[in-house]
Amino acid sequence: MIELSNVSKIYDSGQSAVHALRSVDLKVAKGTIHGVIGLSGAGKSTLIRCVNLLERPSSGSVIVDGQEMTRLDTQALNRARHRIGMIFQHFNLLTTRTVYANVALPLELMGIKRQAIKARVLPLLDMVGLGDKAKQYPSQLSGGQKQRVAIARALASKPSVLLCDEATSALDPQTTSSILELLRDINQQLGITILLITHEMEVVKSICHRVSLISNGELVEDTEVGDFFTAP
Ligand code: ADP
Ligand code: ADP
Repeated sequence: MIELSNVSKIYDSGQSAVHALRSVDLKVAKGTIHGVIGLSGAGKSTLIRCVNLLERPSSGSVIVDGQEMTRLDTQALNRARHRIGMIFQHFNLLTTRTVYANVALPLELMGIKRQAIKARVLPLLDMVGLGDKAKQYPSQLSGGQKQRVAIARALASKPSVLLCDEATSALDPQTTSSILELLRDINQQLGITILLITHEMEVVKSICHRVSLISNGELVEDTEVGDFFTAP
């Protein structure tokens, strides 16, 4: 479903260059939850942003759902991104829009008609447990509720892949568990492939099928989660 081959990323500011990814190879199988774990600065965020080309790799190939992302023109890339949802550590909701309008936004940008948007948004809000919050603003919600809105927004365009960038890192342990449960449901019931990055072992332990370890821009291990936590 996702295949990165020989992906490198160099941030070059002119004075200094940071080698954030070094020849990364990563395969994420359809229908799985794949975690990438590593310390701060290891390259996790760069890696996940290379999947939907929020960052453009300096070299290498990125295939999602059979499409080579690095070769798409702007229009084709926008279409491809509808198939790739993303959620973030700090939710990235629009504060001036209601919960409903945040989830509706990607559909509005796709030019979908109002009634069809409504028919998509309301069931999504129910699915994430916020059926009664449509008219609230993000500032009126808890962190966990905000992340649920972000998840509904990410699913609005019916993606086949969901990217999670430290999605539970700003949440307390109990809220983290409930969001991870929701992600597990989304994977099982909707068959959506999930790639997540985290610095927390517990996240990997509780929902991932496979895990890759990233260190200093290199993927140094890629195993079944069961094997990862078994001492050699
Ligand atoms: P992680 O998500 O694991 O904390 P990042 O991918 O954010 O790691 O960062 C990897 C390396 O790339 C770090 O050394 C970081 O400072 C550097 N880096 C990240 N983004 C940029 C950027 N926009 N410009 C320059 N360096 C960056
Ligand atoms: P109309 O009734 O004029 O067709 P819509 O149903 O499209 O209008 O909604 C108009 C605006 O109201 C939308 O842009 C959306 O932000 C908001 N909205 C629509 N349905 C709901 C709802 N169930 N709960 C909260 N806000 C809604």
